[in-house]
Amino acid sequence: MSECLFCKIVHKEIPATIVHETDQVVAFKDINPLAKEHYLFIHKKHTDNVNAMMMDDANQVVQIYKEIAQFTSKTSLEKDGFRVVTNINKYGCQSVFHTHFHVLGGEQLAGFGK
Ligand code: 5GP
Ligand code: ZN
Repeated sequence: MSECLFCKIVHKEIPATIVHETDQVVAFKDINPLAKEHYLFIHKKHTDNVNAMMMDDANQVVQIYKEIAQFTSKTSLEKDGFRVVTNINKYGCQSVFHTHFHVLGGEQLAGFGK
């Protein structure tokens, strides 16, 4: 049994609505969506945040962005547009310490500073 919430999702120890999965990466619906479409893309290997992921093996970031591209290009997200966000530590409001990339879309998002 893993302690980390998202590792538990990786190991199917708790349920999630999985929308895309490869041997390395899994994407699932955020439980508290902040846009009409809100997905979380994670690497199956645990790291605490994207800085730690970069130091561990930067190719993990490439693998995640590749799967974001694969997924969004099969839906209306690519054509309509979407946002990718990763939060780091306290000021970034990170609440789950397994590196994850939010993919937000499905509606017009607010611009920065607007
Ligand atoms: P953070 O605040 O760390 O950038 O993002 C963590 C995200 O994980 C939040 O958007 C939150 O809604 C989502 N989340 C927290 N617990 C769960 C869960 O058990 N299942 C799913 N699918 N999402 C979760
Ligand atoms: Zn984890």
